[in-house]
Amino acid sequence: MKLLIINSGSSSIKYQLLAMEKEEVLASGLVERIGEAMGLIKCTFFPDSDRQHKVEKEEPVVSHNQGMLRVIDLLCDAKEGIIADTKEIDAIGHRVVHGGEDFSDPTLITDEVVAAIEKNIPLAPLHNPPNLDGIRVARQLFPDAPQVAVFDTAFHQSMPSRAFLYALPRELYEKHRVRRYGFHGTSHAYVAAECAKMLGKELNTCNLITVHLGNGSSMTAIEKGKSVDTSLGMTPLEGLVMGTRCGDVDPALHLFLQQNLGLDLPAIDRMLNKESGLKGLCGMNDLRDIHRAVEAGDEWAQHALDVLCYRNRKYLASFIAVLGQVDAIAFTAGIGENDPVVRAETLRGLENFGIMLDEVKNQERSCIARCLSTEASTIRIFVIPTNEELSIARQTARLIQK
Ligand code: ADP
Repeated sequence: MKLLIINSGSSSIKYQLLAMEKEEVLASGLVERIGEAMGLIKCTFFPDSDRQHKVEKEEPVVSHNQGMLRVIDLLCDAKEGIIADTKEIDAIGHRVVHGGEDFSDPTLITDEVVAAIEKNIPLAPLHNPPNLDGIRVARQLFPDAPQVAVFDTAFHQSMPSRAFLYALPRELYEKHRVRRYGFHGTSHAYVAAECAKMLGKELNTCNLITVHLGNGSSMTAIEKGKSVDTSLGMTPLEGLVMGTRCGDVDPALHLFLQQNLGLDLPAIDRMLNKESGLKGLCGMNDLRDIHRAVEAGDEWAQHALDVLCYRNRKYLASFIAVLGQVDAIAFTAGIGENDPVVRAETLRGLENFGIMLDEVKNQERSCIARCLSTEASTIRIFVIPTNEELSIARQTARLIQK
């Protein structure tokens, strides 16, 4: 079975073609700068294998439709391509950011489903519209293939009301669906399933804390395999300190900024989303740069690192309280998979909770899933590389096989 996975953004389309028998990636790539004067189309065939080869083309891409057509040309290219015809693609899996309260599972896309995703645009005005562009284009170009939507919010629909309600006037929830939704669900669900395998247990018997630390970051408390709380909220701004996003702040901040700095709401929103987090504190949002700056004695780089790890630790301890008993903590994404300093500082001083990091294992570099805790640690500590495309592909395959 061959599946095409599409993650359609405002000016880009990420895609992957997979053969599901061996979960092999046949092609993976990106169309960038859609709608700009010059676009970029990238494709890597058989990535990370000895057959790997790359194609890159610079040409204007006026629309998502044209971008997808270029991708199809590459995949079906007589000389370099890997399929003869789009009919070889059995189904398409789409990443969709916000499913609101309508979707708690991967869903076969119909006109009604498209309408429901449209209805949720107010909750994700930057993400759902380009996701819908990708869906519309793919339905036109692959009319015979079933299309499946996999939602970033779906995994967290199992959160109980005590975790998802804000303490706000109840009409805000009842009339406007203001509540916590959570994101990165595809990643948390994938990492949780892999973590259960590492523990040798059924997922529905595992209590886990999954820690996704990338440019965007979130932590999820998982009870018996289901999300019961997560750090991102109604939008992907709440919770942990991120690359450019502030995470938790006092909600009265908006009024202060407006009254004292004369900022309007769009300017405040931009500041909190794009100019805050690590970047706001020290001018850099890549941890590799921040570590170099710390080495060179940069005081604000140290503050940025400290605030990030302290916030991680606070959330981690609060999720231990949410779960009571925890089998394992699993780190994932760019920082979680690669940064031993952030992992060690996030877990520092939690020995009384049964969390003991093996410092030597923590320093070892590897791109495979591994255990980092000592024998004495009652809560096991893992690094589990996330793979959102594979997760979407597995969910798509499962649904269409039904
Ligand atoms: P995204 O949320 O965009 O998918 P990623 O999960 O790829 O982000 O994470 C990107 C971040 O991971 C970078 O900004 C950087 O801070 C961090 N990162 C990547 N590689 C390393 C590394 N080797 N060491 C430390 N941090 C890293």
